[in-house]
Amino acid sequence: MDHRDNARAFFFLKTTALAAVVALAQGCAQTPVQQSPSESTIAAHVAAATGSAGSDLRPLLELCKPATQPPQAEMDKGLAALIDKPAPPPGKAFDNLYFVGADWVSAWAIKTSDGIILIDALNNEMEAAALIEGGMRKLDLDPAQIKYVIVTHGHGDHYGGAPYLAQKYRARVVMSEADWTMTETKLEFATPIWGAPPKRSAGGISVKDGDRITLGDTTVTLYITPGHTMGTISPVFDVTSGGQKHRAMLWGGTAFNFGKNVPRLGSYIESTRRMGTVTQAQNIDVLLSNHSAVDSSQARLAALRQQPAGAANPFVIGTPAVSRALNVMGECAQAQRDRFALQ
Ligand SMILES: [Zn+2]
Repeated sequence: MDHRDNARAFFFLKTTALAAVVALAQGCAQTPVQQSPSESTIAAHVAAATGSAGSDLRPLLELCKPATQPPQAEMDKGLAALIDKPAPPPGKAFDNLYFVGADWVSAWAIKTSDGIILIDALNNEMEAAALIEGGMRKLDLDPAQIKYVIVTHGHGDHYGGAPYLAQKYRARVVMSEADWTMTETKLEFATPIWGAPPKRSAGGISVKDGDRITLGDTTVTLYITPGHTMGTISPVFDVTSGGQKHRAMLWGGTAFNFGKNVPRLGSYIESTRRMGTVTQAQNIDVLLSNHSAVDSSQARLAALRQQPAGAANPFVIGTPAVSRALNVMGECAQAQRDRFALQ
């Protein structure tokens, strides 16, 4: 690279970074124009993600590291180590929302006037029994009241415990059509640690984008946000804290662990943009995840336990921060798309 190329590359980097800063100031931070992929477009997307993350959303920047897909044996070993970690205590995040997850993967219980909607079911029956049923009992919730199990996507760390709960409590398992089909035909990931996928024939419900699950006084809107899997569900629902109503979105699938797949990253990017629009329109001010490394739910629950009654709920991050989080994920996806394109 000669001096002039260097200068041009620097200028290019500077202008794309500047465009990102301008876009960020305007509140629509994703870099708008798609340049042909290069090391500098990757750097610009990572810079835009880093800018959007600020100091509060730094854990999300993990997503900007080059994506990898570990070989099966390594994945089994890694999963076993993650599952062996002691589980955090269950906790109440909102008046109507409870964490009943493991250290690595989360499950959430929404309490309604007519029973419980569970979001995700952990790795297997053992975890469902110990952490979901056990956790709910510790929080004075009755697992027999679980009416629906929304499985955010067709990977075993989210569906593994679902058949057990469905069978024991006649709870209905909810998945997207794309992910039902994926679990019925060819699993993207399989490991003996996970329970078998739920059976659609056992009262399973297939949902499409915008469908709603209503139970008693609560409605959960299910957005299909393709990317992590092609049928990932991101549920949106109301939560209350100290009598104050907030709107929560649970981002249903985060990692880029599907291997070199440029169109899929395109879907992911589109999903972050689209949910950015939904965030603004509905004033979504709480962003949750099914992995606590993504939404810092364990730290937030610990903070909640220690703070005086009436203090601000640490799960309420505000609409601008939710938008920034979606921008971080979208920019990291663009960086990864460009990396794939260069491979
Ligand atoms: Zn997954």
